[in-house]
Amino acid sequence: MHDVTDTRREEIAAGLAELEGQVDEACRTAGRARSEITVIAVTKTYPASDVRLLAELGVRDIGENRDQEAHDKAAECADLDLTWHFIGQLQTNKARSVVSYADLIHSIDRPRLVEALSREAVRAGREVGCLIQVALEDGGEGGPGARGGVASAEIMRLAEAVAGSPGLRLRGVMAVAPLGGDPDEAFARLYGVAQTIQKEHPSADVISAGMSGDFAHAIANGATHLRVGTALLGRRKPFVR
Ligand SMILES: *Cc1c(COP(=O)(O)O)cnc(C)c1O
Repeated sequence: MHDVTDTRREEIAAGLAELEGQVDEACRTAGRARSEITVIAVTKTYPASDVRLLAELGVRDIGENRDQEAHDKAAECADLDLTWHFIGQLQTNKARSVVSYADLIHSIDRPRLVEALSREAVRAGREVGCLIQVALEDGGEGGPGARGGVASAEIMRLAEAVAGSPGLRLRGVMAVAPLGGDPDEAFARLYGVAQTIQKEHPSADVISAGMSGDFAHAIANGATHLRVGTALLGRRKPFVR
């Protein structure tokens, strides 16, 4: 029998094989070991059944950017041993929900969010990893803040806030490359920020950078975690609110 699930499994397996080849090649070019890189499958807009197929194919790190969708999928996949990454902009009133399933939150961008997450993590008896989302827009299109994140002057203060908050663990930095900018320049800057933070906080060793279109540049510039959606699962339908 060849059903839709088999077809989808083959699609995802093909996407994964192609991606793995490209990640291997980028690692070779950059002189890095493949084991330094974690691929996070960004499953937003795709069903929990895709998460299941990914897990069967050996992908254990799952990324989502909307709380409601992530919460439901994590619940549907509770029997799987997965690491859940929250990568989207986060409202403080979603803090309780997000800390209930997220292992690593990539989008820490303001002190009030840190306070809310800390309070809820303590209440839930969880320790949640946090990445400071760094704005890399200067020099690209869209102006500062267009793709989210905190400006340079605020980075260290926010990192200290996370490091000093019970229930939270400062794990590193995340960024989205500016549209129309030079990704190497942007990711090199992110690497510099990561080094500065890691000097004070040795366990903050995660650099979340690189998506389907630019992960080779991220690997060349020290990324440890790639967030890949389209290249694995196909093009998402336009989101209609
Ligand atoms: C959707 C998303 C990704 C994945 O993007 P693709 O181009 O589909 O690989 C990565 N990071 C963030 C923050 C996202 O929202």
